[in-house]
Amino acid sequence: MSLKTPEEYVQSLKDLKIRAYVNGERIESVADHPAIAPHINTVAKTYQLAHQPEHADVMTATSHLTGEQIHRYTHIFHSADDLVKKIQMLRLLGQITGTCFQRCVGLDALNALYAATYDIDAGEGTGYHERFRAYLTRVQSDDLMLAGAMTDPKGHRALRPGQQEDPDQFVRVVERRDDGVVIRGAKLHNTGGINSHEILVMPGTGLKEEERDYAIACAVPAGADGVVFIFGRQSNDSRKLEGGCDIGNPRFGVVGGEAMVVFDDVFVPHDQVFLNGETSYCGSLVNYFATWHRANYGGCKGGNADVLIGATAKMTKVLGTEKNAVVRDKLTEMIHLNETTYASAIGASAMGYPLPCGAYMVDPMMANTVKQNITRNTYQIGRLSHDLAGGFLATMPGERSFENPEIAEYVEKYSRANPEYGAKDRIKLGRYIENMTSVTTLVEAMHGAGSPQAQRIVMLGQADIDKKIYMAEQVIDGDDDVEGLPLPGKSVSE
Ligand code: SF4
Repeated sequence: MSLKTPEEYVQSLKDLKIRAYVNGERIESVADHPAIAPHINTVAKTYQLAHQPEHADVMTATSHLTGEQIHRYTHIFHSADDLVKKIQMLRLLGQITGTCFQRCVGLDALNALYAATYDIDAGEGTGYHERFRAYLTRVQSDDLMLAGAMTDPKGHRALRPGQQEDPDQFVRVVERRDDGVVIRGAKLHNTGGINSHEILVMPGTGLKEEERDYAIACAVPAGADGVVFIFGRQSNDSRKLEGGCDIGNPRFGVVGGEAMVVFDDVFVPHDQVFLNGETSYCGSLVNYFATWHRANYGGCKGGNADVLIGATAKMTKVLGTEKNAVVRDKLTEMIHLNETTYASAIGASAMGYPLPCGAYMVDPMMANTVKQNITRNTYQIGRLSHDLAGGFLATMPGERSFENPEIAEYVEKYSRANPEYGAKDRIKLGRYIENMTSVTTLVEAMHGAGSPQAQRIVMLGQADIDKKIYMAEQVIDGDDDVEGLPLPGKSVSE
């Protein structure tokens, strides 16, 4: 079966026995824990939409390995059209869930490993690519939810992996056996990690030859011995458990339910190992992943911002300000900021080019520009939303105020604005805006897929400043090479 149903996805999580902790407590079943439910619901949507004929074009693709219809989240990009469709899929999912739907990290990791294993084999005569294709065939036929794990804890930031006081600050191989390897360390910020079937472990940085124990890429089943998930907390997550009008996004999470994943001497058999000691390919693997993932943000954040713009516009109706020209101009500015990032993500995809392995890469300059814009535009869109929604966002009373008869009447009476809407309508909208412009969501926009400086390094490298200087010199001092054309200040006859 190549397309799981949402019910099958939830059941597969119930069947999975993993070691996971939420708020310090070990939990029995990921699929039955209320703190994880919003994130599972979000991923379930990705499975559900693939079964809907009206979304099949963006949500599914044809496997280049088997010819079967598969989920686009398990597909290797083979054309600029594939890249564009991915961005369209992300915007659609963003519009429907209003949050992070988590599967993109695994998708980009699949593509990065597909390209990197091809490169390693071409350079070193290894057999990783064939092994990876066999793995990919299983991922596609089982429609697996994969978490991509790249960010190491990193310890002292001024020291390289091998120089750390604690050598486990970067995931490393601690034992090489005839049948596989044993890995130790941890990966942080793993989007959707706790509700995934498998984790794709990759190095998080370029490595030197003497750092070969840190050069490891492999697939680890979530239930493997020694894997421990420690679920992170999000803004106002305990409110989700209360119900009522204080929640914000009642069905889905705030960003991607990130978790720390610890690898406490985890054995990985050879058929799940895709890079083992080839340090010189780690940098390009990281680069493949980061470039694809940075372009994504124009799609998913575009969809999320559509919902935020909608919530803000609705809030202006609740306040009675919707016809005001200044209000409409600020909404227009939010739209402008959002479409700017979406357009650059589509541009990066449309300008994609084939890699030697046949997979399609997005335009690196545009992809990094997308992410750089996200680190600014998401804040600016949030700022405008706060501006239009007003200070009540930060001071609104909670759901329980309506339950106390001594104050309920006051809260209702003084929390209303336009009498067509009730106090709870205003609070529900306000909580959603609060969720989507909170520290968690803004920090994710800032640091997800790499901090702003990481993109600026690539942008400057890609820009070819010397070529631009040459252009300027030619325009300013170059000779006109078209005979007979007048130059400014001179007639043709002169
Ligand atoms: Fe996908 Fe966006 Fe979430 Fe990244 S932040 S996993 S691109 S939805």
